[in-house]
Amino acid sequence: MKILVINAGSSSLKYQLIAMETEQVIAKGTCERIGIPGGNLTHKANGKTFVVEQEMASHTDAISLVLAELVDKEAGVISSMDEIDAVGHRVVASGEAFTKTTLVDDEVMKTMDEIAELAPLHNPAAILGINACREVMPEKKMALVFDTSFHATMPDYAYLYAIDYDDYKKYKVRKYGAHGTSHKYVAGEAARYLGKKPEELKIITCHLGNGSSISAVDGGKCIDTSMGFTPLAGVPMGTRSGDIDVAAIDFLCKKKGMTMEEGLVYLNKQCGMKGISGVSSDFRDLTAARDAGNYRAALALKMFTYSCKRYVGSYMAALGGLDCIVFTAGIGENTPHIRKAIAGGLEAFGVVIDDEKNNCKNDGTIHDIAADTSRVRVLVIPTNEELVIARETAALL
Ligand code: ADP
Repeated sequence: MKILVINAGSSSLKYQLIAMETEQVIAKGTCERIGIPGGNLTHKANGKTFVVEQEMASHTDAISLVLAELVDKEAGVISSMDEIDAVGHRVVASGEAFTKTTLVDDEVMKTMDEIAELAPLHNPAAILGINACREVMPEKKMALVFDTSFHATMPDYAYLYAIDYDDYKKYKVRKYGAHGTSHKYVAGEAARYLGKKPEELKIITCHLGNGSSISAVDGGKCIDTSMGFTPLAGVPMGTRSGDIDVAAIDFLCKKKGMTMEEGLVYLNKQCGMKGISGVSSDFRDLTAARDAGNYRAALALKMFTYSCKRYVGSYMAALGGLDCIVFTAGIGENTPHIRKAIAGGLEAFGVVIDDEKNNCKNDGTIHDIAADTSRVRVLVIPTNEELVIARETAALL
């Protein structure tokens, strides 16, 4: 069975074709600059990289180009589209409308349109990608895999904001979380690596990338997570502020002459590591600047790791114990000094990092960076959201 995984952005579209028998990626690539002059497709297959310079006026053009590449004589990996058994789409937010992977039909797409406002930066783009696939491959079965599904098991006292309960009921304003596909994958991999059943473990998963979120996973189920109604909440991120007193936002908007809408763009794009450091949102740049003596870069990194540590500590309490901490995504997989700053100094809680093990290279495998004496295991696990999407799509079929 072969599953095509699609992750559509507003002007880009990433894809992977995965053979489910071996769970190997047989082709993958990215369409960039959809609807913008200078469009191109980078396609990796058969051990080679192919670049196609071609304008794509719409997501439909992009999908058509991807399919042409997949069956191409040289760059292709299948003889016809019939070899694709189904398509799995990544969707960022589901609200309360969907709590699990769902097969696409007209009714589902109607609901998708209704909930698009929940993730205005992401969901409308996913809808473009899904509609494009339905247009180009009308006969294919398609599944929607939601980033929020894994968080659907949070108890009400964890996901509710203390607002008027009637307003929650009416407007569905509450915590939904994000990155659920990644948290689910690494929590499952941790259990497999430790030779335990997910039900036996209390795990804190730290997905640290451009966007970062931390989840508490009890017996395989998410019980709390740091992101909120949108991915703006939680720890400070590359360009997002993370948690902030809303009264400060109102104050800032008035002072800077911004509307609330502009204020939210500011908090999403101009704050976080970029805003504090004035250097960059990228942790490699921040680390280099800090090492060169830049105070604000050092401050930004300290604020990030301090905030992550506070979440880890609070989730240990929420879980009532801890067996394992997992680090994943761009920063979590590649940056020993960040892992050390977050999980170091927690010896009183049974967490002991081994500095030598922590300096492991990201080689695509799982590393346990805890000392032998550590009661809590600390794992670095490369995430694989596309594989989860493919697995869920295959399971639904
Ligand atoms: P996202 O998928 O949310 O865009 P990533 O998970 O790719 O983000 O994480 C990007 C972050 O990871 C950047 O801040 C980057 O500096 C950091 N990072 C550190 N080392 C590496 C590395 N070797 N490769 C990629 N990203 C890295």
